[in-house]
Amino acid sequence: RKADVECRIVVLGAGPGGYTAAFRAADLGLDTVLVERYPELGGVCLNVGCIPSKALLHAADVIDQAAHAGAFGVDFGKPKIDIDKLRGYKDGVVGQLTKGLAGMAKQRKVRVLQGTGRFVSANEIEITGDDGKTQLLRFEQCIIAAGSQALKLPGFPWDDGRVMDSTDALQLADVPKKLLVVGGGIIGLEMATVYRGLGSEVTVVELADQLIPGADRDLVKPLADRLKKQGVSVHLKTKVVEAKAAKKGIDVAFEGDSIPDGKLYDRVLVAVGRAPNGKKIDAEKAGLRVGERGFIDVDAQMRTSAPHIFAIGDIVGQPMLAHKATHEGKLAAEVAAGEKKEWVARVIPSVAYTDPEIAWVGVTENEAKAKGLKVGVGKFPWAASGRAIGLARTEGFTKLVFDEATQRVVGAGIVGVHAGELISEAALAIEMGAEVGDIAHTIHPHPTLGESVAMAAEVYDGTITDLY
Ligand code: FAD
Repeated sequence: RKADVECRIVVLGAGPGGYTAAFRAADLGLDTVLVERYPELGGVCLNVGCIPSKALLHAADVIDQAAHAGAFGVDFGKPKIDIDKLRGYKDGVVGQLTKGLAGMAKQRKVRVLQGTGRFVSANEIEITGDDGKTQLLRFEQCIIAAGSQALKLPGFPWDDGRVMDSTDALQLADVPKKLLVVGGGIIGLEMATVYRGLGSEVTVVELADQLIPGADRDLVKPLADRLKKQGVSVHLKTKVVEAKAAKKGIDVAFEGDSIPDGKLYDRVLVAVGRAPNGKKIDAEKAGLRVGERGFIDVDAQMRTSAPHIFAIGDIVGQPMLAHKATHEGKLAAEVAAGEKKEWVARVIPSVAYTDPEIAWVGVTENEAKAKGLKVGVGKFPWAASGRAIGLARTEGFTKLVFDEATQRVVGAGIVGVHAGELISEAALAIEMGAEVGDIAHTIHPHPTLGESVAMAAEVYDGTITDLY
């Protein structure tokens, strides 16, 4: 069969990994095609992930700040929420970015083909459009960036609109009176924060013995405390064993250490993780090895088992984060164009944009303990930060983890407002091999939350001694 389209390199999937790879490949002079199943570029992150969730979290934050302003003598009264307008705001934010991407693709002469791609051979992808028509694309090189999708727990009545995954929850159909969130990880808690802010009564169940199981327990505590204060009901070591659609709500049965009082919920959000799309692209027809769970194995240059095919982003493994995908996308494009490079990132930061935010990077205390690493910790409580006191948000802290032998920073954890903004400094310090003095002696502006990073280093090196 004759190919309908030919190109030097095709990128399959236009999420943050895919569009970055395509733009970089085009900038390096490669004739590039970008295949995306949806009409908009941007993938999960822009359309139904990072960006819309943060737009809604901003609204929840404003509502919450207004509610607490009484403490300094300002009363805004009860918020009046126009849900259509809020949804419009969120859609506008997303639209601005996806439109920008379409322009950037055009500017670079990246050919965007809409449809679902599947391999038919080691050098061919068949693309099926929404109308069922197919096109055969022949390529010399390929970058797979087909991402992931929400895990749909079996046993839930998924055909009932009241059972939602994160994509559904971000549609903001209404503000349910009672919302059950299954899964106390980052996505579940961000959505819990949004809906709580908008007025839902929120219950969270989590199988593990702490929220956000990947983070150190001390980092999670200020968030757990605040959620409790806000009336969010959190149930650890507990799982849903049955969920049935009933007239008055979704009827849920639980099992575990902490059974919620209610059984009936107006909506249930299932946020128990994401599954890679590796099994949905007929990768074996290109001779690729795909792991049992759907992840595609790659080497340090993002090459799959077929040297002319690369894979990046959520589809190659954890952490499933946009900033990992973009870096991998750039690398894959550069290697495909002939540059001799490999993945050398030491650390990838994680952020939960909850209230307070939790951010961590590099070695956690849990990990150090599990691996028997000899580390020391410098921890600066925000109760001693003038800025945090002024913001009436003193529950946070900043901690740095140092390698005892080299005195180099190897990890950091921050909880508090804007923790996500603050973690980058620690990531840079780790990447640069900074020692405790490098951080402690760098002059940070006062009064900022950022200076807590330097102060955590000073706690570790013994300059600050009178905090506790
Ligand atoms: P994706 O973004 O999943 O993109 C893959 C693209 O490929 C999709 O557009 C898909 O339609 C397309 N595709 C798949 N198969 C095919 C095919 N066969 N043919 C054609 N096209 C195909 N990460 C962060 O770093 N920060 C956050 O704040 C954050 N918040 C999140 C909030 C939510 C609610 C969710 C769900 C995720 C969040 N993430 C966040 C994770 C982030 O969205 C992902 O890590 C990121 O989108 C992965 O990028 P990717 O390029 O690998 O794939």
